[in-house]
Amino acid sequence: MRIGVLALQGAVREHIRHIELSGHEGLPIKKVEQLNEIDGLILPGGESTTLRRLMSLYGFDKALADSDLPIFGTCAGLIVLAKDIVGEAGYLSKLDISVERNSFGRQVDSFESELVIKGVADDIEGVFIRAPHIAEVYGNAQILSEVEGKIVAVKQDQYLGVSFHPELTDDYRVTSYFIDEIVAKHKKASA
Ligand code: GLN
Repeated sequence: MRIGVLALQGAVREHIRHIELSGHEGLPIKKVEQLNEIDGLILPGGESTTLRRLMSLYGFDKALADSDLPIFGTCAGLIVLAKDIVGEAGYLSKLDISVERNSFGRQVDSFESELVIKGVADDIEGVFIRAPHIAEVYGNAQILSEVEGKIVAVKQDQYLGVSFHPELTDDYRVTSYFIDEIVAKHKKASA
């Protein structure tokens, strides 16, 4: 399958590497026209205010609003996918969740934790960098993982969102799960 990584900001190359390790083709996406060439899209981490601004500037907000393309958001990408952002307006609103930014405290800007992720594995190393957490889940969003009592991974239909950075380790099982389970299922259903 062909999986795009939104290449406006963030760790694009690392995500492409995980896509390739999963046995699929990874493409950096810079223009909305390229969305027609892919089966799924990854929104990388970075800074979600900048990411939202760049996405609007290049028309990705409108293009994705009208699309049923499967999307995997990591960290800032999760914030972009959420229906509600605490204290701010939601953006793509694909996941029925509310997220809170920078919610693991000021002292610990980043930390790692071994995660149990439902349907994926029970030993995934999560790298959290000024990470958001999912404050509330409603509608059809399903909780896949929690750490310190905070929700850090959710899935809803063809959308997947995690608070951490899977691309920063050598373990590509979360990316494989997105492609081989979520994208594959969506492709089959819409064929
Ligand atoms: N703190 C960032 C934000 O709120 C997200 C951090 C990240 O993607 N690593 O946008």
